[in-house]
Amino acid sequence: MSISEIIAFNTQIIFILLSSFAIVDYIRHPSPRRRDFALLASALGIPFAVTLLGKLQIVDSSALNIIGAFMLFSQPYFLYRLLQYVRPGPRVIGFLILAGSVVCCLLILLGMGPNPALTVSLIFGCCALAEAYSTWGFYRGMQGTAGTLRRRLRIITISSAIFTLAFIINVVKAQIPTLNAVATPVAQLVVTISAILFYVAFIPPRSWRRAWQMEELTEFVSQTTLPSANEGFTKESFGQLIQKALLTTNGMASGVLKRDETTGVWSVLAATNDDVFARMIQHGQPFLEQAWQQRQATYSLVSDASEGQLLQVLGAQTWLLVPIHTKERLWGLLVVLLKDRSLFIDDDLRMLELLAQQCALVLHNYRLIGELQQYSEQLEHKVEERTEALRRSNEELRRYAYVASHDLQEPLRTVTSYLQLIEQRYPDKLDDEGKEFIAFAVDGAVRMKNLISDLLVYSRVENRARSFALLDVEAVLNKSILVLDAAISENEARITHDPMPKIVADEDLLMQLFQNLIANAIKYRSARPPEIHIGANCKDGFWTFSVRDNGIGIDKQFLERIFIIFQRLHTAEEYPGTGIGLAVCRKAAELHGGRIWAESEVGKGTTFYFTIPVRETVEQSPA
Ligand code: ADP
Repeated sequence: MSISEIIAFNTQIIFILLSSFAIVDYIRHPSPRRRDFALLASALGIPFAVTLLGKLQIVDSSALNIIGAFMLFSQPYFLYRLLQYVRPGPRVIGFLILAGSVVCCLLILLGMGPNPALTVSLIFGCCALAEAYSTWGFYRGMQGTAGTLRRRLRIITISSAIFTLAFIINVVKAQIPTLNAVATPVAQLVVTISAILFYVAFIPPRSWRRAWQMEELTEFVSQTTLPSANEGFTKESFGQLIQKALLTTNGMASGVLKRDETTGVWSVLAATNDDVFARMIQHGQPFLEQAWQQRQATYSLVSDASEGQLLQVLGAQTWLLVPIHTKERLWGLLVVLLKDRSLFIDDDLRMLELLAQQCALVLHNYRLIGELQQYSEQLEHKVEERTEALRRSNEELRRYAYVASHDLQEPLRTVTSYLQLIEQRYPDKLDDEGKEFIAFAVDGAVRMKNLISDLLVYSRVENRARSFALLDVEAVLNKSILVLDAAISENEARITHDPMPKIVADEDLLMQLFQNLIANAIKYRSARPPEIHIGANCKDGFWTFSVRDNGIGIDKQFLERIFIIFQRLHTAEEYPGTGIGLAVCRKAAELHGGRIWAESEVGKGTTFYFTIPVRETVEQSPA
């Protein structure tokens, strides 16, 4: 067997296989388009089967040649029939192509005339022309489409262009017989490639089809923008869907229709041509109702008995109906109208289903987001309301504490001074017990006075307007120490400090901090003479001040509690006090935007720290 014979044999086998597959595909899923493709594939397969049978001398070869020739010459006609699904042309061209193939067969049957080479050239030339016409048609049909359909039409265009070339090679072969040895295998090879491409375009393997569809879907997903506004978000999503549906199927119009569940009235949610869908609702309600109930993707052709009339009214050949739904909700029906029949209607339907599913998912998610937003807004609103109520009640409480402590001072002063008057005026009339009782009463009144004045300080710290200024901390510290002069000398306390910075702060608040902390350091002294050191250190945008003593120290478990108002660790007998000083300090630090804490070891001493943010200018101070 020579190489050209091997090529010829392979070609025959491939063609026979491909045409058999096409016929099986038609038998499994009968449809007009599959029938037409099976005919085209047979037009290629039968001539080769015939040649093979002839070679094997199973059947009389001259009879077979006629059948083979007829099938081969009818190939352009079957291709033209397939073109009608994409771009229907004038009927007369179809008739001419069919008549041409019959004439070609008659010529073969009746003899080739006086100049066989010329006749052969004419026959193949006409075939090439007819094939080129369809190639051009498919090429035009491909433009204006997108995605999978465009890909498949491109393959068909290339394939029929290659087939045209094969016919031209046959013309050349007839004119220049010396090229026969090369031209024959080349023509066979070219035809084989073309046939395989036809096959790929019309009956691609399932995995390829899925991959194409996924690619198209991914593209749709990546181009899908989330609807912008809450109001009318369905319209925006449906707008994107109908555009994509139109491109994917090469349709003439697409829209989304919806049935109102309570009234049963149909409306157009989005459409490329409003009037077409208004007509569809007017004339095609029974079909829409059916699709709405069944929730299944379907298509109808103009040839269908009942839907045909409606399609004619709409000026379309085909419609595809796809529900846009998730498990919970049916959002609408996607309807695509095609001017012609579709080449790949099952795949179109599947693709539309995928797109509609995607759209339904977007809508579902968007609705969830909307609900979430609504909840969070409600929650925010509630929190705002509560915060406001809390702020008001805090405000009232503060005012109440201020007024109460302020007004209590006056009667207390009266009580104290009259008690003292009794003590002074009637020393003889009181026995020792009476004097002791009065001393208790005076002591109680003094403690109450201290409590009230501390409370007043606390509520003043809270209520007064802050006045931030650039302060020399050293001067503020010295002032605080001066106030405590009596206690310092009484306890023989030694106070040292680091060099102090200049900072932007509120002088009164800073005084409160130093005074309270130093006073405590002296008050809670141990047996040793008090040694107090005040430090200052700047780090990470904060000044940290510390007041360290060598006093009795605090148990670690109480280090947080001591800053709460009225919290004391000792009785009034052990150490006098009100439990307000450190609460005032905490407020003062917080009002600066800082914080306060303590570190301590029982028996060794305590260090209090408070921070104040570094501010370059007074404007940066908190409102
Ligand atoms: P007061 O001193 O009036 O009791 P404070 O709020 O100033 O109230 O202090 C709260 C508690 O913290 C005090 O009762 C005391 O037990 C403890 N405390 C504060 N400063 C020191 C200190 N420097 N050393 C040991 N304990 C202290």
